[in-house]
Amino acid sequence: MARVWFIGAGPGAPDLLTVRGARLIGEADVVIWARSLVNEGVLEHARHDAQIVESTTIPLEGVRELYERAVVEDLRVARVHSGDPSIYGAVMEQVELCEEIGLPWEIVPGVSSLGAAAAAIGRELTVPEVSQSVILTRRASRTPMPPGEDIRSFAAHGTTMAIFLSAARPRALQEELLEGGYAPDTPCAVVYKASWPDEMVIECPLEELADRIRKAGFTRQALILVGPGLAAGGTRSHLYSPQFSHMFRKSEGEDAP
Ligand code: SAH
Repeated sequence: MARVWFIGAGPGAPDLLTVRGARLIGEADVVIWARSLVNEGVLEHARHDAQIVESTTIPLEGVRELYERAVVEDLRVARVHSGDPSIYGAVMEQVELCEEIGLPWEIVPGVSSLGAAAAAIGRELTVPEVSQSVILTRRASRTPMPPGEDIRSFAAHGTTMAIFLSAARPRALQEELLEGGYAPDTPCAVVYKASWPDEMVIECPLEELADRIRKAGFTRQALILVGPGLAAGGTRSHLYSPQFSHMFRKSEGEDAP
C-alpha cells in the first residue's frame, strides 16, 4: 500500500542507520535523500530499480507531485532525513502535505547527531549531581526563535546544552552563553561531522569557543556542546559548575580592594 516513511538516517556513518530504516529503504519504490546531509552509503540498501531523488533538486511542489504519484501508483516512498527526524527535521510540513494528499505516513527514528557527538568525545551528557538535563536548542537565523527561547535564558540553567545549526556566528553565541551565566571556563566541545570519515572535534573552555570554531572553519554540520558535565570525572566536574565559578568570581571581586 502507498505510504511514505520519514526515516532517520543517523548522523553520517551508514552503519548507524537502524535495521528498520535499512529494511524500509530496501523496500521502497522511491527514495528521497539530501546529498549534503545524508551519507550516500545509506542508499546501498535501496533496490536497484528504485527511483532515487535528490531532495535539494526539487522544490516542495516537486515533492507534492511525487507524493501524489505515490497515491495513484501505489508506491512506497522512503524519505531519508539526517540524524533523527524529530530534531530540526522539517518533518511537519511533509506530514501536512501527506495528510492533504491522503498519503499514509510513518516516522522511523534515527540516531541523532546529539548521541553521535557525545560518543565522539566519549561523554555522557547527564552526569549525576552535575547535570541531569540537556537543553537542545539553536540560535535564530532565518528561522526566528519563539519568545522565551533565548540562548541567554537557557544558559542561566547552567546544565548541558546542545546547540544545533549555530556554528556560523560563534562570537555572538559565545557572548550569549557568557551573558546567560556560564563561567568562562565552562567546558565546551564542538563536533564537526560526527561519525563521518572527516569528523573533527574541538574541546576548549567557553572563553575560547568562538576563536576555535573560527580557526577550524566550521560553519555547518557542527554540534556545539556546552556545560559543566563535559568536564572529566564526576567529582572534578564540580569545579566547573557555573555556580561554583560564580561564587568564586564574586568572592574574588569582594576581596578586591
Ligand atoms: N535531525 C538532525 C539535525 C538536523 S539540523 C539530527 O538529529 O542530528 C542540522 C544540524 O544538526 C547541523 O547544523 C548540526 O548542528 C547538527 N548535525 C547534523 N549532523 C551532524 C553531524 N554528523 N555532526 C555534527 N553535527 C551534526
